[in-house]
This record gives sequence, structure tokens and C-alpha cells, in this order.
Amino acid sequence: MNFPEAFTQQIKTRLGDQYQAFIDSLQTESPTSIRLNPFKKSSTPTGEAIPWHSEGYYLSERPVFTLDPAFHAGAYYVQEASSMFVAEAVKQTVNLSKPLKVLDLCAAPGGKTTLLASLLNQNSLLVANEVIKSRVGILKENLEKWGFSNYIVANHDPEEMVELEGFFDVVLVDAPCSGEGLFRKDPKAMNEWSENSVNICSARQKRILQAAAMLVAPKGILIYSTCTYNEKENQQNTQWLTQVADFEEIKLNIPSDWNIDDSRNGYQFFPHRVKGEGFFLSVFKKKFGDDNYIQAKVKLNRLRNRETALLEPFIENIEDFDFFLKPDSSIVAIPNELAAEYGTVMRALDRRSSGIEIGTIKGTDFVPTHALALSSIIKKDLPAIELLKEDALKFLKRENFEADLAQSGWVLVRYEGLNLGWIKVIGDRINNYLPKEWRIRMDIE
Ligand code: SAM
Repeated sequence: MNFPEAFTQQIKTRLGDQYQAFIDSLQTESPTSIRLNPFKKSSTPTGEAIPWHSEGYYLSERPVFTLDPAFHAGAYYVQEASSMFVAEAVKQTVNLSKPLKVLDLCAAPGGKTTLLASLLNQNSLLVANEVIKSRVGILKENLEKWGFSNYIVANHDPEEMVELEGFFDVVLVDAPCSGEGLFRKDPKAMNEWSENSVNICSARQKRILQAAAMLVAPKGILIYSTCTYNEKENQQNTQWLTQVADFEEIKLNIPSDWNIDDSRNGYQFFPHRVKGEGFFLSVFKKKFGDDNYIQAKVKLNRLRNRETALLEPFIENIEDFDFFLKPDSSIVAIPNELAAEYGTVMRALDRRSSGIEIGTIKGTDFVPTHALALSSIIKKDLPAIELLKEDALKFLKRENFEADLAQSGWVLVRYEGLNLGWIKVIGDRINNYLPKEWRIRMDIE
């Protein structure tokens, strides 16, 4: 690997006699790791446990994930090991038994959003924001697969979220950065690196942090993370935050054998010290501030009782939800405990979803969505067929597969007990309702 000269100089000065070990570690293969979905128990083979995340595992080799139906069912997320440390930071600093309002400000593709979702209780709301529009689709897809249903996906610049000042108990800023920690995994990051790009990143991060700081409730938590080692993006920015806003850094209790470096104003992961990529994380608590957001009601078109009755066979604990019609006639489910919080977020943001879309009503029929099939709110005892791997992959390719079907109407397709999507059985015909854009495009032998 030919590192940029200025990078080499910086990291040499920083690491001193550890420099050679650092360089050697970058010549080794990047570890593959997954994080299991606590909502979807599966028989996914795991390997060595990741020390800082109870559901994280290293795999001894990188399988073709596309060919594993459990991956499509959201049984696990393929995530770089170091970044799973966010969960430990949350566990140590947040009371997770309380209903929380949580914002993932730089969320796509959703690795840390799904990680946060796994930690939250059923009365918590998770807002996943991504400023780049073309990246919102993958974020939505990953959230739908994960199955946690109390989320809103938004598409805003952090500075446009001012109406939510003081609203969130937890804000995660997983900032766009120079990516020094990804040089081994993604050589593109190395080719794009320059001192100038570091300066641009650092300034952008300050802007994001400033907007994020305002969104945190008094006594709330702000987590800042990057996948770089650069002090201009990490320590300088975190120090700056404590100077310009009312935040204090919170120290975490970290076992020494995790080999995470307690660097000034945060924690740094180096690939020669941990089995993972370069990563930086810092946690802050807001000292004071106003939670002066206005609890706003949005006028939503509530589904009539007669139509709500059509949903009953599909939704577990239906009494826990309110159902609304969007202008395009799709139905969204909002947990009734969280109606006020959903209203406030929806009022404050223009470009956002409005809760999990569960289906539409056509005539006297309810047409369920794929998101409902994969979500935790779906009724457990719906008609279903269990497919073996070969046929499950055919379903995921939207090809014909063999099935002995006694049922008719809407039937869930399952693989090892995990929902993969819907088919509709009409007489001898099976209609596959897997969204076209989700279908496996790869040739399978
Ligand atoms: N949190 C994600 C995950 O774990 O999967 C990865 C996030 S990535 C490190 C940073 C994200 O910030 C990218 O999705 C990028 O599009 C977004 N971003 C870029 N410029 C931004 C800006 N000015 N404000 C907020 N987010 C920005």
C-alpha cells in the first residue's frame, strides 16, 4: 500500500514505536463481521465473539451474503467490528428502560441505525436522517429488513432541523470523514485522501456537530464518531464542542484487554491493537439547554374503524397502534404511546416518512407491504410456507418455485422461520410480492 506522504508523517508522529505494527496490520486482510438481529433469532453460523458487542461475531471467511436467505430476512447485518462499539457507549450512558427519542443524524446505509434500534424498547422513537437523497433508499431498505417499527426516515441537512431543538434524548453523529481508518478495507478512501480534504471534512463536521448539539435535550447524550485517526477531525472537533456548547465529555469503563486507546477527548480503535478497522468515538452529556420544542399535532387522516378491522388478521397487538392514511392511500402504523412524538417530528420536517407503511386497502381487501412482512408488528400466526434454501432463493429472485399450498390468499414465505415476504395464492397461481427492486439479480448456479 502506498500511503500519502503527509498521512504517513502524521501517523508516524502519533504512533511512535507502534508505527511499524500499524503498517503491518494494514497488510493483513480486513476482518469480516456480522451483528445478529435480536428481533429475529436464526441459525446463522457465527464465529469468534466481538469483545464489545454481545451480538457481534467475526466470520472466519467472507461468504456470499446475497446467497443466504437469512441475510435478506434481516437476521443479521454485515458490519465492521469497531463501529459496533457505539452500542457499548449507549449502554453505559443511557437509561434504555425509558421511552427515548433517538436521532441518527448521518444514518445511511443504516449500520448504526439498526444497531440503535436493537437497543431501544417498544416505546422509543428512532429518527434516521440522511442528507444525501440517493442514499435514503438503502437506509429505508435496511431498516425495513431489521423489523423495528418505530422509526421515521428523514432527508435533511442537519441545519434544517432547528424546530426539533432540545427534542432528542440521544443524538448520534457518525460523521462523514476522511476515512483514514478504512484504507485497508476501501483503497478508494486512500486515493481520495489529502490534507485539504481533511480540512474540508473537519469544517463540515463542526457544522454538523453544532446543529446536532442544539437538537439534544437537556441532560441528553451526544455521541460523535468517525472512521478516521485524524486529530483535526476527532480530538480538535470534540474539544471545540465542549468549548462552544454546554457539553461535558463522559468517560466510559472499558476493559483494558479490549485494546481500545483512551485518546484525548475520545476513544480510538487502531487495527494493530484491535480486530477491526480504525474508528473514533466520543460521548458527551448536555449540561443545560432548552427542551422548548413545541409538541405539534399534525393533521392525519385516520383510518376508519371498518377499514381498521381489515388489518386485524395481520397486526399483533393491534390496540397498541393508530392507523393513518397517507395522501397516496398507503396506511401507516403509529404506536399510540408515541403519537405526540411522531406528530412533532412530522411537523418539523418536510422530507420524511410518517411511520411504517403497512399496506393499502383495495376494495374490501387489505394489501400488505413487504415492510410489514419483515416487521416485528406482524401477526405471528399468519398462513405461511417454509421453504428450503434453493426455493427460498428462487422466491428472492422472483422466479417460480415448488410449493405444496393448502392455503389461498396472502401467505408469508419463510426460511428457517424467518419471514422473507409475501405471495398471494389464487387457485393454482402464485403471485410473488417481493418488491422488484429487492430481488436478487445475481446468477445462481
Ligand atoms: N452511520 C452510517 C452507518 O453506520 O451505516 C454511516 C454514515 S457515513 C460515515 C456518513 C454519512 O453522512 C453518509 O451517509 C453521508 O452521506 C452523510 N453526510 C455527508 N455530508 C453530510 C452533511 N453535510 N451533513 C450530514 N450528513 C452528511
